[in-house]
Amino acid sequence: MAKSRHAVPDTTIRTLGPAKIGTPLRHPRYVDETRPLKLVMTSEELCELDNETMLLDFEKAGPREKLYFDPPKTKCAIVTCGGLCPGINDVIRAIVMESHYHYGIRTVLGIRNGLRGFIPKYGYDLKELTPQNVSSIHQFGGTILGSSRGPQDPGEIVDSLERMNVNVLFVIGGDGTMRAASAIVDEVERRRRKIAVIGIPKTIDNDINFITRTFGFDTAVEKATEAIQCAHVEATGMDMGIGLVKLMGREAGFIAAQATLAMQEVNFLLVPEEPFAFDGERGLLMAIERRLLHRGHALIVCAEGAGRDLLEESRRTDASGNVRLGDICGLLADRMKAHFAARNLEMNMKFIDPSYIIRSVPANAGDRVYCGFLGQHAVHAAMAGKTGMVVTQIKTSMAHLPLELVTSKRRYLNTDSDYWSSVMEATGQQNYFIAQ
Ligand code: ATP
Ligand code: MG
Repeated sequence: MAKSRHAVPDTTIRTLGPAKIGTPLRHPRYVDETRPLKLVMTSEELCELDNETMLLDFEKAGPREKLYFDPPKTKCAIVTCGGLCPGINDVIRAIVMESHYHYGIRTVLGIRNGLRGFIPKYGYDLKELTPQNVSSIHQFGGTILGSSRGPQDPGEIVDSLERMNVNVLFVIGGDGTMRAASAIVDEVERRRRKIAVIGIPKTIDNDINFITRTFGFDTAVEKATEAIQCAHVEATGMDMGIGLVKLMGREAGFIAAQATLAMQEVNFLLVPEEPFAFDGERGLLMAIERRLLHRGHALIVCAEGAGRDLLEESRRTDASGNVRLGDICGLLADRMKAHFAARNLEMNMKFIDPSYIIRSVPANAGDRVYCGFLGQHAVHAAMAGKTGMVVTQIKTSMAHLPLELVTSKRRYLNTDSDYWSSVMEATGQQNYFIAQ
């Protein structure tokens, strides 16, 4: 393997102190901390490397024989932040069940409505989570704890953790939430407190650096294929029919690409990673026209962050400071109408935006299995005194990853890859961009 020109990412996991307490778990396979997971990471997994690979050590997830926290004296809390994603309730349930039944932890507190739940001025009650009251929550989408956006002071959050005597905080959320978790870890360390902070990364877009798979992605793809199927029926139901489906993917088009592979009827896929132009012989509008004249219908899937350079840069942000995206599908629809009208051609377009339906459904079986692993491993990590880290799947293994690595960079679709070539073969869109 060639020596890398790039700095080796630091995969060391912080601990609160030595683990000296015998675990109550009877487990045949405790993790041996002296034997890290050694994984060859490719340039696609470590977005910053150009066609390089790197051999990295990761800390393996799983139960440890010795714990830092004494289970009967340990108090945990769970908070969920950011947007909805299938599987959040499954993760909550897995954390509660693992804590109670396997470690004998007596108290798991649910913080209501995201980080706001820590702040007294909002006046939210705590929700004590027990095996009884979480037993069926995985059947529902959303989060039973509620969520919110908007910054909250890490100092006030740690004040609240101290008042509640919380030893372990589980934080479920997206990139913003993981930054908030980092800020909480810094504040805890500044105060020299022994509170473990464990993240469970949530992004339906599957666009986190290093992380092979985020929970909810598989469900999202499955639900997206239903919308694509409907749009296909609409498109083929009329001559010169166009089905346009908007899918999630603010920065990265993973859902749209994977759903396109699952539903090969898609003719045009637009993602943030691949810029396109509307006009000219080689532009999108002429390509759609050629497809319609050739086949009588067209099915277009557009990720919400596609074609950003074609929209006026939005200055509007949400409460957490995330830029509100412009409406690329609205613009595309307007441009198609104008194009076909100007050329005196018929066109019947149906637009489907399934985003909120996709976000709010319960997780599918594959995601449920994964959420179960995440919840269990989050508890194992916390009890061993790990902090400032997330649990996740890297390649085929469950591992610990420092929060800094998760928040440092985003993962994008590599449009110079075999995967993308397959996606493009599935759509056949390139054929229509070339005048015939
Ligand atoms: P998603 O992107 O899936 O909606 P998210 O976790 O990125 O999830 P945000 O609303 O951006 O959602 O952030 C969640 C919470 O984390 C918010 O309360 C936000 O204010 C807080 N947060 C975001 N960035 C930071 C940061 N750099 N420092 C401290 N808190 C932050
Ligand atoms: Mg975010």
